[in-house]
Amino acid sequence: MAQILTLELEAKAAQVREALGAAVQQYGRVVYANSLGPEAMVLTDLICASSPAIDIVTIDTGRLHEETYELLGKLQTRYRNRIRVLYPQGTQVSELVSRQGINGFFDSVEARRACCNVRKIVPFKSIVSGYSAWITGVRREQSATRAEGRPVEWDEQHGLHKVSPLLDWTEDQVWSYIRARHLPYNSLNDKGYPSIGCAPCTRAILPGEDQRAGRWWWESPESRECGLHPRVRSKA
Ligand code: SF4
Repeated sequence: MAQILTLELEAKAAQVREALGAAVQQYGRVVYANSLGPEAMVLTDLICASSPAIDIVTIDTGRLHEETYELLGKLQTRYRNRIRVLYPQGTQVSELVSRQGINGFFDSVEARRACCNVRKIVPFKSIVSGYSAWITGVRREQSATRAEGRPVEWDEQHGLHKVSPLLDWTEDQVWSYIRARHLPYNSLNDKGYPSIGCAPCTRAILPGEDQRAGRWWWESPESRECGLHPRVRSKA
């Protein structure tokens, strides 16, 4: 099957490869926190092809869609189990569910954040622990918070550098790359889910809605981040 990138996409991909290489050269131990979204398909492909020194890790919160597990299976086959899967701590999940119920995250922003903390934030901290930089696939277009991002930032909260090589990619460019390279992707993306998290906390969006409107859809837009992308100061 033909896998030809346009000149524009090849130039964008070359910039990403350069940013990944520079991150390894500058920071040494680098990890990619793979979200399994469309951007992650691009980054996984580029990292596997050009940056063997970068570790790739994803979190199985225990509440993912079946379609997401299907995608993970395809990725593990295509990239030969290059992606390490990390899980929340069983005792913490058990305590959380005892305290606020199996779906308690619907009850308040605090309860939702408590669930995200146990199922995402704590595993994420364990992922980045021991690394000097982490790679993320965030793009400016995705939200007002992300629009303020920089390609390299100091992540105050987690105490390491945060590198965002796709920051200026458009959604069209992401999908053009996926199609040109015949990459797998989450089948929910074809059903109105541009941004996919845990199953109970993600819905399809309506035409004209913000890309992340389906995430924690019952909350106000200001609270709709999981805590992995807090405001950060730029790194000189
Ligand atoms: S997205 Fe929902 S189910 Fe997943 S960790 Fe956060 S609150 Fe829990």
